[in-house]
Amino acid sequence: MKEIKLYLGYAGYCEANENHSIRGGANKSIKFHALFGLIQHPEQGWILYDTGYTKRFYECTKHYPNKIYAQMTKVFVTEADEIKNQLKHFGLQPADIKHIIITHFHADHVAGLKDFNEATFYCSRAAFKQYTEIGAFWAFSKAILKDLIPEDFEKRLKIIENYGKRLNDEIFDQKYDLFADDSFMIYDLPGHAAGQIGVELKTEKQQYFLIADACWNKKSYEEMLLPPSIVRLFFDSWQDFKDSLQKVNLFHKRYPAITIVPTHCSATTSALVSTNYDLNAL
Ligand SMILES: [Zn+2]
Repeated sequence: MKEIKLYLGYAGYCEANENHSIRGGANKSIKFHALFGLIQHPEQGWILYDTGYTKRFYECTKHYPNKIYAQMTKVFVTEADEIKNQLKHFGLQPADIKHIIITHFHADHVAGLKDFNEATFYCSRAAFKQYTEIGAFWAFSKAILKDLIPEDFEKRLKIIENYGKRLNDEIFDQKYDLFADDSFMIYDLPGHAAGQIGVELKTEKQQYFLIADACWNKKSYEEMLLPPSIVRLFFDSWQDFKDSLQKVNLFHKRYPAITIVPTHCSATTSALVSTNYDLNAL
């Protein structure tokens, strides 16, 4: 694959019970960090993989029905945590971000979108379809807050299936080479959310498969250990979730040297996220 530079960081977190994240997990509160990726591509420039939480989440959940979302998910984010402020450590401005890959439309992945006026957005056709079809009132029940999405979103959006170069894949049947240069490989990982995607990329040191919320704990893809059935209520499709996880499990077995990164798995991300803002660490 073509090499890029990757930095992984956290932009806020929410609290959740560990036994909701995986069967057999402890009955204790754990942090679900909102992971994002800052990527430097040699030709395409600066790219974000998701955008974490921002304080806009609090604004958007002040009133019902969205308030129900905030009552069920206790979110912690400060101004310093927001990506637009973390960019300063790299000498970057929000306008320097030219592309944003949206894995799915849940608030912990899209809350920063409004900060990046120069960026082109990329998501799957199915994710965008659900986003457009769900009414603003009921969107919260799918963890979507429409107020987090920029008004000119559609104008700046590129649907991955239309834009990327489709390739065959042994495990996933197909994948999309986003820039047709073998640097960003996009895979379908539906289930947790409609049309969720994952991204495979490579730095000078290591190859990564960023799988968003295809699972919340590395044990899930390693041992096919599922979350408890209570969380099914919040998933778009339990069957798709299991199918996607099975494919990640197969990918892991076939390519054990590739680092798989579930967004909210601290056991994985704590070793990858550093606070020294080094683009050459990963
Ligand atoms: Zn998430």
